[in-house]
Amino acid sequence: MPVTTTPTTQVKFKPYTRQTIALARQWQWMSPDLQEAVQVISHVLPFRTNEYVMEQLIDWNNIPDDPIYRLTFPHRDMLPPAEYDRLRDLVLNKADSGAIAQMVQSIRMRMNPHPAGQMTHNVPRVNDAPLKGLQHKYKETVLFFPSAGQTCHAYCTFCFRWPQFVGMEDMKFDARETTELVSYLKSHPDVTDVLFTGGDPMIMNTRSLAEFIEPLLAPELAHIQNIRIGTKSVAYWPQRFVSDKDADDLMRLFEKVVAAGKNLALMGHYNHAVELRNPIAQQAVKRIVGTGATLRMQGPLIRHINEDPKSWAELWTTGVRLGAIPYYMFVERDTGPSDYFALPLARAHEVFQAAYSMVSGLSRTVRGPSMSAFPGKVVIDGVVTINGEKLFALQFLQARNPAWVKKPFFAKYDANATWLDHLVPAFGRKKFFFEEEGDLGNHGAAGRVIPILPATQRRASDVQPDAA
Ligand code: SF4
Repeated sequence: MPVTTTPTTQVKFKPYTRQTIALARQWQWMSPDLQEAVQVISHVLPFRTNEYVMEQLIDWNNIPDDPIYRLTFPHRDMLPPAEYDRLRDLVLNKADSGAIAQMVQSIRMRMNPHPAGQMTHNVPRVNDAPLKGLQHKYKETVLFFPSAGQTCHAYCTFCFRWPQFVGMEDMKFDARETTELVSYLKSHPDVTDVLFTGGDPMIMNTRSLAEFIEPLLAPELAHIQNIRIGTKSVAYWPQRFVSDKDADDLMRLFEKVVAAGKNLALMGHYNHAVELRNPIAQQAVKRIVGTGATLRMQGPLIRHINEDPKSWAELWTTGVRLGAIPYYMFVERDTGPSDYFALPLARAHEVFQAAYSMVSGLSRTVRGPSMSAFPGKVVIDGVVTINGEKLFALQFLQARNPAWVKKPFFAKYDANATWLDHLVPAFGRKKFFFEEEGDLGNHGAAGRVIPILPATQRRASDVQPDAA
């Protein structure tokens, strides 16, 4: 069982990668087959874990089925068997690096590296030049990717931002400083929220983080009301908020943002109840909310990791007790090894409903299961029967066109569908209402609409123009 002690002294962060993982004592506890999967798959997808995750979160008596092991260690089934075998032969036979690179690149491009139009539609342009470290999908929210925050304390095996970490430079979002961000925000008074994201911005030391955040406190950016930071450090390295040498400075920075009249919202990425069982993880939550910041809990539902509703219910209940706010259960995105991790939408709805029914009203701030799809965030509200037809009831929680939000719509029930573009409109209609309207609003980055097509067609048209 994981150890649950709170360190009283400062603990040094110790990461492990493909090059160093064999030095960890736990490596000897893994079978040759599991070790091989790490060595092979980590050529395609990023692999990084750390000593805290390995010592305190993974139950090594239960590998490979332990949820946090699955969350951070690659598994051979993440690639189709023939593809895995071919890559394994190249890697283990120490083939020419060009041959390995060629195969790795072809696998990565098959994996839909930038889903939901991130590169084609979300990147804002000034004088027709893209602002590389920004995304502006929804009218009121801008995403900012600080370059120093484009890594994480450990990598999730399902990561939807995996191209950020594997050297695909032409597919990476990052910005070295905030000049362009500030100038963009000055000219967009309807933007109220800035989300610092990555990777994990909390990988930065407090001084670097302050250099990115403090410019947003300027009087001319009074329209920026909410500063959000997306972070997994609350689970992978809660010491960041408690015992790191600049943890107290970090708390002072949070207090400064709050004192400036902004809402500072940490968007905490949690995947499993075990991540919030350790005293230090709980202490991190208390310290964050003690500064006046808010901490919202969100994460995707993933096969092999968190399909158990009881885990979600425990996570939300513990979080609420500590002062956090349950926010989103996402549907696993259609990128990376999604065939390995995806659950049917029907199953996702069952898990959400079961977890939701186990918790008190204070935890029912959570929304889900929600797909961050090309047109917006679509939630599965339920399964209904109308005129004898079994249907999914859906609505947008967020949309490229604000007029679409909260408009109910229906799709034919499909027990196997795992994503929005697998669904067919109900009542004999040819298109969903948002496909008929085809209006992104005038804040869309490229101002054109990609119709929702079957996955294989959509991926080709969605990714290649900007990836070339
Ligand atoms: S924390 Fe987020 S960005 Fe980092 S590896 Fe996990 S999913 Fe990817």
